Amino acid sequence: MPKITLKDGVLSAEVYVQVTRDHTCPCGASFTITMDMPEGVTYNGKINVTNVTCPKCGGPVTLPDGHHYIENYKLLTKQLDQDA
Ligand SMILES: [Zn+2]
Repeated sequence: MPKITLKDGVLSAEVYVQVTRDHTCPCGASFTITMDMPEGVTYNGKINVTNVTCPKCGGPVTLPDGHHYIENYKLLTKQLDQDA
């Protein structure tokens, strides 16, 4: 099962939902990740998705810096406000 490593931030939710994330690897391959996230959690920053690697180049999957949130069982990312 994919495990998510979060650098800081407290995850206290006990309900996990399965979400998907469309990811494009730096090598150009596009694929969809499925993972479990605590429901209603948002997170700012980089997310390293362990146990999932690019099917084409085998590289690690890292979701870029941003504001990550769940909507319609998808993990989406907004740009962080540069002035914040
Ligand atoms: Zn790749």
